[in-house]
Parts: sequence; structure tokens; C-alpha cells
Amino acid sequence: PTILEQYIANHAGSAERYRDAVGIFPGGVTHDNRYAEPFPLYITHGQGPRKWDVDGNEYIDYVSGHGALLLGHSHPAIAEAVTEQILRGTHLGACTDEELRWARAIMTLMPAVERIRFHSSGTEATLMAMRLARAFTGRNKVIKLQDHFHGWHDYAMAGSDRPAPGIPAESWSSMVIVPSGNLDAVQQAMERDSDIAAIILEPTGAHYGQLPFDAPQYLTGLRQLCDQHGVVLIFDEVVTGFRASPGGAQVRYGVTPDLTTMAKIVAGALPGGAVGGKADIVDMIAQRGDPEWDNTERVYHPGTFNGNPLSAVAGATCLELIASEPLNERADAMAARLKAGLNEMFTRMEVGGHAYGIASMIHFTLADGDFDHEFGPEVDRQIKSAAATPAVTGIKRGLQNHGIDIMGRDAFLVSATHSEADIDATLGAFAATLADARD
Ligand code: PLP
Repeated sequence: PTILEQYIANHAGSAERYRDAVGIFPGGVTHDNRYAEPFPLYITHGQGPRKWDVDGNEYIDYVSGHGALLLGHSHPAIAEAVTEQILRGTHLGACTDEELRWARAIMTLMPAVERIRFHSSGTEATLMAMRLARAFTGRNKVIKLQDHFHGWHDYAMAGSDRPAPGIPAESWSSMVIVPSGNLDAVQQAMERDSDIAAIILEPTGAHYGQLPFDAPQYLTGLRQLCDQHGVVLIFDEVVTGFRASPGGAQVRYGVTPDLTTMAKIVAGALPGGAVGGKADIVDMIAQRGDPEWDNTERVYHPGTFNGNPLSAVAGATCLELIASEPLNERADAMAARLKAGLNEMFTRMEVGGHAYGIASMIHFTLADGDFDHEFGPEVDRQIKSAAATPAVTGIKRGLQNHGIDIMGRDAFLVSATHSEADIDATLGAFAATLADARD
């Protein structure tokens, strides 16, 4: 049987549910990236590095909650903290000790965070970071790097030739798109336009490093350009935060942004986000005097679930564990084993593929090409076009047949709970999938 025939045969329960779902959700799904041909998997539960589907198939999971799960599924300490908090109230409609504990855990790991505000998602965090930068500088425009992802609000979606349906063209007129990894392009944009408030980017390259750049050199250059031009430097650490290192990409590379956006791991894989950074910028939100007075000089920030106690205890528990145990080291070591194993396999099986990435974020492409170095900007386009090939899409389905679930088409987000045996089983499944694809 072909990969697709096997997939259909092994996942009858998922197919059945999807037939109902298409009449309920647009496209049958609740997140664009969960759409899959001919149908997506329906998962019932997860534990550590594993999860199970409605047909009883077991997976080693590298979706890792879209990157939110550095500590694996249902970590006992997080599960216990959340369960206890549910019994004490899910929304106390007030300031809490839990939000203070959460903020302190973040500030311990990320010293550049002098002030912080909580949101419910990464999308909200990037929207707020851009707004804060505009308010602080009195300028209107934001530079965004081509292909970098910052959520789904109107400004974050800027990047292609024209706005997608539903997005007003005016919101894009305040966005300046420059190629990723190219300092000259940023310099020219800042010199050309005195109305630039901020630059926002994923600090390990688009899609957490699918399109990498020479991070230390590029980030240091951006820091200098921002200082020269009075532009706010925003690192979107929604994925890299607490994963690229315990203190995110900024600590890994020693480059300090003015603002950092966070979500996913920061909330212990519950819904939650945050924007933190320089006190004088984040303090643009601060109210003074009569709380009912709508101070037009400040940045407005309500939000029913800001700092909600469930996310606060999950996030604080997760980050305190990251601070006290070598969890990143463990995840990174497993990711390094996976990356080396994949590259060794591509050579052995004479597949023109390449696995690359840093920390616990591994990508692969199955294109032929010269991949001597990992982070040169010239490999970007090559990697991108390779990752978009149907061959890679087929691999995802084939890996699912063999009990491996990857993020998107090309990514392994490794957790501290993946073991050497899990990595070796993953490599075996990948080899079997490549063999299937050749048949
Ligand atoms: N920024 C980056 C780098 C992301 O990867 C994502 C989501 O994957 C977001 C922002 C948006 O976060 P959310 O999905 O929580 O809105």
C-alpha cells in the first residue's frame, strides 16, 4: 500500500470524526495548521513525549503543543498546580499572588524584562508590543522581516503583495517588509524613513529557525541600528522563549531587545502570553490617578483573562523548573542526537536531505543542496523551497503511519521528556518512511 493508503487504513476513527467536523468548523478544523489531506488526526490524550489517537495508535510527539510543551504532556507538577488552582478559583477578578510569582519567574530567567503585562496569546503580545513601540516613539511604522510569523492580527499578517481578505490595506501601509537576515536592507529602511517605531523579528530566523540567519552577528547588528535610529527592537520569543536557552534567544546570543513577546512555554502550555522589557516603554500602559479616567496619553490594556490564575500557576511552575533543573540541556541533547542521526541516515540512504536547527528546534529538508554551513542567509531560500515540496508533505503522513507526529511539515520540537530510546525509535521510523516513499 502507498503511504496514503496506509494512513487511511490506520485512522478510520479520525476519518469518521472529520466527516462530521467539516459541517461544524470551516475546513473541519479549529487551527489552520491542523488542516490535513485527506483528514487530520484526532488525539485523545498525551503523557510525557507520547500521545494517542482515537484509533488507539501511539505517537512520539514532536508537535509538542505547537512548541508549548518543553516539559512534555501533562507534567505532574504542572498538572497538580493547575488542579489545585481550579479548586481555588479560575478567575478571581482581582490582582493575585500567582501573577506576581509568574512575573518573577520570567524576570529571573530573562533579565531584560524590567516590566511585564500578561495577555491570553502570542498574537495579543505582538499586537501590544507594536502598539507600545509606536506610543513610545511617537512614530507609526513597524519593520517586519519577510516570512517571520507573529500571529494572525492584521499587522502581523503583512508580508505578501497585498492584504489577505478581511485585512484593511491601511493596516499594511504602516508595515515595512524587509528580507530576513540582511542588515543592509534594515539600515536602508531606517535611513529612508524617519517614521519607523520598531522592528519585530523571530530571533532565530523565520518559523523558529526554518529559515535561519547568522544569529549572533545579525542580532548584534540590529541592536546597533536600533540604537542609532531610536527604533524599538522587539524579539518575538513566543517559540524561542525558554527554549533557545532558559532565558530565550536573547540570553543565548547575549543581545538584549527593548521588548520581548512571549507565549506557549511561558504559560506552561496553558493559554497565555506576555510582553516584557524596558520599564520606560512598558510603563506606557501605566495608569495614574483616577482609574476611571481614560488617559489619552497612555496605552490602553484591558483583557478579561490577563494574568489568569490557571496560566499563572502553570507558567510559574514550568519556569521555576526550567530555572532549577537542566531541562533545556536534556531537550537540547536529545535534539542534537536526532539531528546527527537524521544527517547520518540521509548520507547512508543517499537521500539529498539535511537536518539543522539549534537547541530543541530541529528542521529538515529533503532537497539536494550544498549545506556546509547551517546559518548562512544564502541557504534560506533553498531551505524554504525545499520544505514546500510535496515529498516533505508525504513524509509527514508516512511518519504518522510509523507513530511519529512532527510539527508542520518539517519540524521536531523536542521536549525534556524525550529519551534516547524515543530518538532512536524516531530515526528508525524515519528510515522506514523514506523506504515507503521510495516504493
Ligand atoms: N509569534 C510566533 C513566533 C509564533 O510562533 C506564534 C504562534 O505560533 C505567535 C507569535 C502567535 O502566538 P499565538 O498562536 O499564541 O497567538
